Amino acid sequence: MDTSESIHVAIVGSGPSGFYAAEALLRSELPVRVDMFERLPTPYGLVRSGVAPDHQKLKQPIQVFERIARTPEFGFLGNVTIGIDVTIEELKAAYHAIIFACGAQKDRRMDIPGEDLDGSHTATEFVGWYNGHPDYRDRVFDLQQEVVAIIGQGNVAVDVCRILTRPVDELKTSDIAEHALDALSQSRVREVHIIGRRGPAQAKFTSKELRELTGLTGTVATVDPEQLRLTSACETELASNTNVIAQKNMELFRAIAANAPQSGLRRIHFRFLASPFAVQGRDRVEKLSLVRNRLTGEPFRQSAMATNCFEELTCGLVFRSIGYKGVPIPGLPFDPMRGVLPNAAGRIVDGESVLPGLYVTGWLKRGPSGIIGTNRADSLETVESLLTDLAKHPPRYAPGLKGVAPIIERRCARVVGLADWFDIDAAEVERGTSRGKPREKFTRIEEMLSLVS
Ligand code: NAP
Repeated sequence: MDTSESIHVAIVGSGPSGFYAAEALLRSELPVRVDMFERLPTPYGLVRSGVAPDHQKLKQPIQVFERIARTPEFGFLGNVTIGIDVTIEELKAAYHAIIFACGAQKDRRMDIPGEDLDGSHTATEFVGWYNGHPDYRDRVFDLQQEVVAIIGQGNVAVDVCRILTRPVDELKTSDIAEHALDALSQSRVREVHIIGRRGPAQAKFTSKELRELTGLTGTVATVDPEQLRLTSACETELASNTNVIAQKNMELFRAIAANAPQSGLRRIHFRFLASPFAVQGRDRVEKLSLVRNRLTGEPFRQSAMATNCFEELTCGLVFRSIGYKGVPIPGLPFDPMRGVLPNAAGRIVDGESVLPGLYVTGWLKRGPSGIIGTNRADSLETVESLLTDLAKHPPRYAPGLKGVAPIIERRCARVVGLADWFDIDAAEVERGTSRGKPREKFTRIEEMLSLVS
């Protein structure tokens, strides 16, 4: 119920960190009303459009988010772009507080020649494409190429590699977008190289994800045993009982090294201590120029230093998967190095000053790290800061949604409310049923809007 005592909070972004912030707010003892603003007509951020389709279990938090969304004090405003349909100043005037939960929307660049050649892509594009994100559904990937290089050794690289190498029959009953399933069923990809600038002890994969790459039907994982030789600093890192994931990864790499490299229909090659310095090709990607690295520095602070040994890898597709960055929000301070909004426990700060009423959570607060659940504690911290501030400075009246609804109505062609989203959701599930899939996503905004208009 919206009363004159209600505390009105706007959350910008509807991914995990936004929902966990809403949950924490709605569980507080205060009469809080939450309005969640989302650029797309669909909620759930990376759980919908980032988690790989063959990892359906990781999408279970959606059930929690749906329960939060059904709380009477919660409102969803989809298809509303902040800065276009409503400005931050307008939100500030209507709400007691705003929490920015917009994630890290931009890929890091390698900043090397040839990075933008045809056939060189970001992991984000590919992930968005196979997950049916409207921004990426029309991207084209030349899957007639046999050799692919993925730069970076984190879990996103693993996802990209798995979708490229998993038998397409095993994806048919997932929620993968139909256009991606069609293209993957024609794929001629045979070799995938996953390239890390540092060594096997520093690979960022979690062991469960790495192990999955060793058990794919018809695919063999390989690594040159020479690449697994460790420096004493790496041995020290691995001996630490705080480094269990790296220890498990190392065991897996040693098992992989024993695989026969020529077996298998498809092959995944792990390559360490190599950095690309150019993507080569006349009109499109033909090869990758790599420099061999050595590690320097203290244990746990080792960085890759280029040597004067070079090599070339002939390949037809390159995906860079070297992490994400947040994007600046006009009118708010921004840390361009870390790609986050500078903050103290979630309170947005400009230099030494805290900006009253403005908060941040999730990847835009701490950088792109952790799993979905990591956002729960992160958002709790931000909401605790917000509630502490409210207790110190009891708020004046703010109209909340009533204050901005007429503005948004004027500027936005169609606000997608919660009931609309549930209609889209039900239609997707129904479309999926006949294909044996949990859902067949709508991949164009117009399709979604025509369904609810
Ligand atoms: P990540 O884990 O940070 O890995 C990024 C990789 O890129 C690292 O190997 C890093 O190497 C490398 N890199 C960075 N800059 C580079 C450069 N200039 N040249 C060459 N390599 C470079 O990032 P991510 O894979 O994007 O994942 C983001 C987060 O989402 C992670 O927390 C991840 O665990 C999570 N995630 C989880 C799942 C899952 O649970 N299944 C799935 C996907 C993503 P250095 O170590 O040397 O910096």
